[in-house]
Amino acid sequence: MARTPVVARTLPALHRALDKIRARNARVALVPTMGALHEGHLTLVRQAKRRCEKVVVSIFVNPTQFAPHEDFSTYPRTWKTDLAKLADEKVDLIWNPDVKTMYPDGFATRISCEGPAIADLEDRYRPHFFGGVATVVGKLFIQCKPDVAVFGQKDFQQLRVVTQMARDLDLGVKVVGIPTVRERDGLAMSSRNVYLSPEERRIAPTLYRTMKDCARQLRDGGDLKTAMAEGAAAISNAGFALDYFEARHADTLAPIASLSEGPIRFLVAAKIGTTRLIDNIGV
Ligand code: AMP
Repeated sequence: MARTPVVARTLPALHRALDKIRARNARVALVPTMGALHEGHLTLVRQAKRRCEKVVVSIFVNPTQFAPHEDFSTYPRTWKTDLAKLADEKVDLIWNPDVKTMYPDGFATRISCEGPAIADLEDRYRPHFFGGVATVVGKLFIQCKPDVAVFGQKDFQQLRVVTQMARDLDLGVKVVGIPTVRERDGLAMSSRNVYLSPEERRIAPTLYRTMKDCARQLRDGGDLKTAMAEGAAAISNAGFALDYFEARHADTLAPIASLSEGPIRFLVAAKIGTTRLIDNIGV
């Protein structure tokens, strides 16, 4: 049977566990998550293990990155199965603070990001989001002092924001981005996929399929503007309410007008029923 990882729920317990790890001169990789773990998260854990001797996974559903109308209270919480999965992966330490530990009474600080955080993508539809993410990830980096932190390319703008923040604030952590893990039909794995009805689940892979089709069109010499307009129409016609479907520079997230200005990243966000999905691919 897999050894149960150490679970820390208070800062003193976290620091005791980390001190033991550091005493052995082990390098530490951190994988920040909100739990409800799936194969995407576990892939990050495996990549973390390849890079460092010890792996810390944080599980914290971060209230400051949800707007009042969003799904903080109903976000899936699956502690027991998460623990079993992380034990199977032989994770060393789970950091699972409660909200009061992360944000004690009187907490009054927020990290404010620019650059990739104001690229007019997720930030337009979730203006509170990156401030909340940067604040909690900044705290996680300070609490755990990892050598490496592993994030998914699934949340592409978030990966850029966190990378920029770690660099700008001299946090001394190398941020690594891992390609998106998908279901067999192309749907990007997400903790929120459990919200989808069977009919919505059937339609959901349209996002990935459409991005792939547009990428092919471009590579075959097609016009970017035309490809994007056709892609947006295909997504809407499938039953989505589209927030954005954009072609951006993969490094800067700046808008881009042709393949030659690349490398291009397609980024999409759309609602099916009440569930908002995001995805992206490199072109
Ligand atoms: P979350 O628990 O959804 O906040 O995600 C925690 C981390 O897992 C983030 O770095 C995500 O980008 C990453 N992640 C989520 N879904 C996937 C996926 N399908 N493939 C790769 N990484 C993912």
